[in-house]
Amino acid sequence: MTTATEAAVAQAAALLRRARSGIAFTGAGVSVESGIPHFRGEGGLWTKFDPYKVAHIDTFRKDPSQYWTYSLNHRRPEAEPNPAHRALVELERLGHLRAVITQNTDGLHQRAGSKEVIELHGSSHSVVCLDCEARFPRDQVDRMNREHCPPSCPACGGQFLKPTVVLFGEALPMPALREAQALAMAADVVLIVGSSLQVYPAAGIPRLARQHGAELCIVNAEPTPKPARSCPRSSAGWRPARESPRLGRSGRRLGKQPRSAPWAR
Ligand SMILES: [Zn+2]
Repeated sequence: MTTATEAAVAQAAALLRRARSGIAFTGAGVSVESGIPHFRGEGGLWTKFDPYKVAHIDTFRKDPSQYWTYSLNHRRPEAEPNPAHRALVELERLGHLRAVITQNTDGLHQRAGSKEVIELHGSSHSVVCLDCEARFPRDQVDRMNREHCPPSCPACGGQFLKPTVVLFGEALPMPALREAQALAMAADVVLIVGSSLQVYPAAGIPRLARQHGAELCIVNAEPTPKPARSCPRSSAGWRPARESPRLGRSGRRLGKQPRSAPWAR
């Protein structure tokens, strides 16, 4: 690590050590080391696929086979949690984090051992029939999908089996969003890992926390938008991430990690 990064890590550690109602906010970047491809930015899936064709609810309702073909080729059910997931488990165990709020649908935070995980974009581990609302394990539907694409509902024969993830054009699950907002308003520190903070309304969670006085610690590979432009408690200026990693009052940055993107696998 460079001296600047070491200093940023030390500052982040001090920040987290003091945290009593901290939360983590994670995006796709946290799972890249687990072999799960990210979406936006260089090499991301959305540079190869049009998300409005493969992951939009309107397209899905017209032809679910596009989604299921894409999913068959890019889902990584064998992925294992990586040290970043496990570090968040440890911070929760030590009492510094109350919850992990994630944009990811891969379930790796839970598999790593995080107890309190809020999935803003749903979960890719189960599938629901849009006709009869029956639910099925993802593994079962993946097996069906390999035999016939798109898979049909085993219960009613319907053609619209959809993973319980939030596709483009769909609303976030309200209970998860409300819980995340409540945690954000009560948070003293938000550790943001692997999120580009570009996808709303999820990216509004760190902004909300900031507006209620939380410190932000951003760990991301690429520049992120300023989280709280109108924050009345912001006193230090925002610097783009291309400058040296730094921790500042209005937005704390730390080193480089894979960047984030939205969900939908
Ligand atoms: Zn059905």
